[in-house]
Amino acid sequence: MPLPTDDAWHRDTLLVHAGRPAPLPGAPLNAPLEPASTFHAGGAVEYARDGTAGGAALESAMGALEDGIAVAFASGMAAASAILDLVPPGGVVVAPRTAYAGVSARLAELHARGHVEVRYVDVADTAAVGRAVEGAALLWLESPSNPMLHIADLPACTEAAHAAGAVVVCDSTFATPLLQQPLLMGVDVVLHSATKFIGGHSDALLGIVVTRDEGRADDLRLRRTILGAAPGSLESYLVLRGLRTLALRLRRSQDNALSIARRLQQVAADWGIRRVRYPGLVDDPGYERCQRLMNGPGGVLAVEFDDPELAQSMAERTSLWVHATSLGGVESLLERRRRWPAESPDVPEGLVRMSVGIEDPDDLWADLVEAVDRARGAGSTDPVPTQIVH
Ligand SMILES: *Cc1c(COP(=O)(O)O)cnc(C)c1O
Repeated sequence: MPLPTDDAWHRDTLLVHAGRPAPLPGAPLNAPLEPASTFHAGGAVEYARDGTAGGAALESAMGALEDGIAVAFASGMAAASAILDLVPPGGVVVAPRTAYAGVSARLAELHARGHVEVRYVDVADTAAVGRAVEGAALLWLESPSNPMLHIADLPACTEAAHAAGAVVVCDSTFATPLLQQPLLMGVDVVLHSATKFIGGHSDALLGIVVTRDEGRADDLRLRRTILGAAPGSLESYLVLRGLRTLALRLRRSQDNALSIARRLQQVAADWGIRRVRYPGLVDDPGYERCQRLMNGPGGVLAVEFDDPELAQSMAERTSLWVHATSLGGVESLLERRRRWPAESPDVPEGLVRMSVGIEDPDDLWADLVEAVDRARGAGSTDPVPTQIVH
């Protein structure tokens, strides 16, 4: 429910207070956990697949933060799939050549089955996006992109897409509502994998879509019910609890990421690092757009080693950094993305994605130095994953 004064509040305040139950005597401060699949007939919600009170509280907070109507899903992929379901049969989707691999896999599958036609572009190349959107139904952007940290010129791409009659989606997972406001730049639909920074503790899967179009929000809610993609009550609770501290966590994570990125640049020649990708570095191709369009570069960077074996071996030999997929948690995680057989061949073999947590940056750095030392004398031991991609 909208709060009486929320228009006047800054985002850091909304993070703490939006989506709470009405402040009545005896009412709890937090939306209660509600483990129920069904409800007594006659109320607003009758079955949990239509959404729960905890999910509605989270939606209210996210809607206030993005200034739109939020719809929560069971995961980022459930949300992405529901959005892609709205493309008419045979419609053209313009999509990034490298993006979150699950979304790319879903698009490839829809294309292979003849449901949609996909045109892939480098979304950092605005002119190429402008050419590709002719006749398209949907432009899918992801900025900053996973795992290459490309930054799209959101207003320019959106203008070109709208001129061509296409709907624009932006996966803003890396930015969160604090670092980027795609709806303010004209984007029609924003997607967040709240599994990442918004939840922030690597303990829940959840996805959120925000739009300003009521009809589209209704369509998305209907997809959610039909596909069975509503988030669980516990997940909604955990993510809303995580959201309360997003500003503090993200700031620390971002400070740490900049510190690690700079130190990696300093040892680049010695470690065989071809490139450090982080839009907070002045020589990064995304730096200018990040300064112009975002409130900060975020907490994820990617480091490209010349030698993929050294990259893999280093990732396996850290003691503090966790060798695991995913990102955006309080703990630092890293992985060589191409260890997943289905990751895009446009992602370099030696690229290690690093999600920088909120630990002490000196400890994080010392752990990387030790891991590289150990890796130089050893090879890879971990088996190649067999799942498609995460
Ligand atoms: C993780 C991720 C997703 C998918 O979210 P899940 O919650 O894992 O389903 C989508 N987009 C991006 C950019 C991601 O990092």
